[in-house]
Amino acid sequence: MSGSIPLRATAEAVIVGAGIMGCAIAHALAERGLTDLVVLEREAIGRGATADAAGGIRQQFSTETNVRLATHSVRVWETFRERFGAEIAFRQQGYLFLLTDPSEEPVFRRNLALQQGLGVPARWVSPDEIADINPFVEISDVIGGTFCPEDGWADTSSATMGYAQAARRLGVAIEEETPVTGIRVDDGRVRNVETPRGAIATPLVIICAGPQTRQVGAFAGVDLPIDPYRRMSFVTEPFARLPPTLPMTIEFATGLYVHPESAGFLFGMANRAEPPGFDKTVDEDWMLTTVEALVARAPAFEEATVRSGWAGFYEITPDDNPLLGHVGEPEGLAVAAGFSGHGFMQGPAIGACMAELLCDGAAKTVDITPFRPSRFTEGALTQEHNVI
Ligand SMILES: Cc1cc2nc3c(=O)[nH]c(=O)nc-3n(C[C@H](O)[C@H](O)[C@H](O)COP(=O)(O)OP(=O)(O)OC[C@H]3O[C@@H](n4cnc5c(N)ncnc54)[C@H](O)[C@@H]3O)c2cc1C
Repeated sequence: MSGSIPLRATAEAVIVGAGIMGCAIAHALAERGLTDLVVLEREAIGRGATADAAGGIRQQFSTETNVRLATHSVRVWETFRERFGAEIAFRQQGYLFLLTDPSEEPVFRRNLALQQGLGVPARWVSPDEIADINPFVEISDVIGGTFCPEDGWADTSSATMGYAQAARRLGVAIEEETPVTGIRVDDGRVRNVETPRGAIATPLVIICAGPQTRQVGAFAGVDLPIDPYRRMSFVTEPFARLPPTLPMTIEFATGLYVHPESAGFLFGMANRAEPPGFDKTVDEDWMLTTVEALVARAPAFEEATVRSGWAGFYEITPDDNPLLGHVGEPEGLAVAAGFSGHGFMQGPAIGACMAELLCDGAAKTVDITPFRPSRFTEGALTQEHNVI
């Protein structure tokens, strides 16, 4: 907590938002020696979209950039405890995609070839193999699917705190309860960031404000095409009827997903007809629709009880990929946001890539130029197909 203690007056860089991205980037910059760095968070560390995520971590994407970002991140998640001293409960029980629409098979097979070529141990699975991996799913309408045993899920809060604490140990100031209320631009350059606790003069502002990124960009007169879409997740009461060793299982056609969580299960499904907005209430009707879809796919859940549910926001861009890097004008404004439902898992790679880009002029861990913010005005969109 930061209370009314004055902020420092200057910083080499200011990050707006202390979600997984703000914290991972802060840590990566500090590791490279940029420690005169302040992270401003309007609420508390990791309480934005990151707190609402299902924690899923997968490598099954359709673009080379996303597969590379994912594989680099998985290696970090696997060794997070040793590197950061934080236990993130990464359970590599696999991601199992179920396909029911024959037109999806060639697309998934093409994506599999891409993933395998980049070293991802994903494979095509027949309905019989699916029944072996998850005997509780109804497979009468399933034509096949894909499975990657290295995928899984982890605790988003511990991961974000792990990065935040490591950044603080290196000298980064993370100021909670400190909303950014303005960004001053003079002569085409960012000059300072304004908050109710005072302004910080800085030549570099990195917007990592998740679903609120468009609003923060507007402070500097920039339109960043990221819209908030409500997504709901639900957890069951402890449910021993199904084993806790099952993989994350996804019905691709609907986006229905379910995975073991504590002694129960976590599940959700996107209401793709809902327009964007910041309504964070749980829609009871949609909960019933989701439960019906879950029971249809895995009838054993008829005996489960929903314990609670919550809503959060996907931060969606026109091509379902993030905006990474300098915005161009004004100078000194960069962004890492718009992860369209798969941001938590990419945190480690985005931290590394953004630090390389900002310190050296180019990212080398993964080439992230396909996700440059200018691609929307250049008409160079790069669509991600595997969005859940
Ligand atoms: C229901 C749901 C399920 C999801 N499941 C997964 C999943 O399984 N796997 C996965 O990888 N991703 C998942 N996601 C997506 C994931 O949560 C996000 O992509 C990721 O957390 C984005 O991180 P972030 O740091 O960019 O944003 P956030 O975590 O939202 O952080 C942004 C921060 O900026 C702060 N902020 C905003 N405005 C200001 C301001 N003016 N001043 C100061 N601070 C400000 C916010 O308070 C917030 O803390 C899911 C999302 C939802 C909603």
